[in-house]
Amino acid sequence: MLSSPSGGGKSTIARHLLDAREDVTYSVSATTRGKRPGEEEGRHYHFLSRSEFERRVAADEFAEWAEYEGNLYGTLRSEVERGLGSGRHVVLDIEVAGARQVRKRFPDSVQVFVLPPSASELIHRLTGRNTEPKDAIARRLAIASQELMAAAEYDYVVVNDDVVEAVAQVAAILDVEARRVRRIANLNVVIDNLRKDLTGLSERLGGSDAPA
Ligand code: 5GP
Repeated sequence: MLSSPSGGGKSTIARHLLDAREDVTYSVSATTRGKRPGEEEGRHYHFLSRSEFERRVAADEFAEWAEYEGNLYGTLRSEVERGLGSGRHVVLDIEVAGARQVRKRFPDSVQVFVLPPSASELIHRLTGRNTEPKDAIARRLAIASQELMAAAEYDYVVVNDDVVEAVAQVAAILDVEARRVRRIANLNVVIDNLRKDLTGLSERLGGSDAPA
């Protein structure tokens, strides 16, 4: 799960991660906000009307959802299940209220907060992408200031100064988390097989202290 203030660069990191790694997939969120130029249905978001979004909330189709800047955003359970079903890591790009719900419902998830290198860089990125009118940028900056206070709730912090470096750090987090003993489902089988082989081989060597 990646969170950051708007303009912090988490979507760019997610995109690079997807390009770089076949074992990573992305959960395409649903939203009621309007499409930005260049955005595609089903790729950037599932764009829903408010009533459709609310119908799906009532049908319990969301793993989490939250309101951000007057629009609703949510992670569809079906997206997460599809990703996990394919045996891959599923990346969620969500704001902090949704992240709190995910943390509660999926304590096994790994949460990374992406920080911009500086306030001026955050403003530069938000204004530079020309996707929001001035008043929306001002609202997003106010939300950003609030969101920064949630950083300490996350497992990891990555500073997005250089995107290549930031992607490498998120990839390293994925890899190290995947090595956690509790995540290795068939560890017992692997260890049992190793011990059996060890016994067989040491018997063949004729050793009398073969492991029991
Ligand atoms: P944007 O409008 O810039 O695409 O997204 C606005 C904010 O909504 C970002 O902080 C983004 O991470 C967050 N967001 C995107 N999808 C979801 C989602 O499925 N759930 C939640 N809670 N937040 C989301």
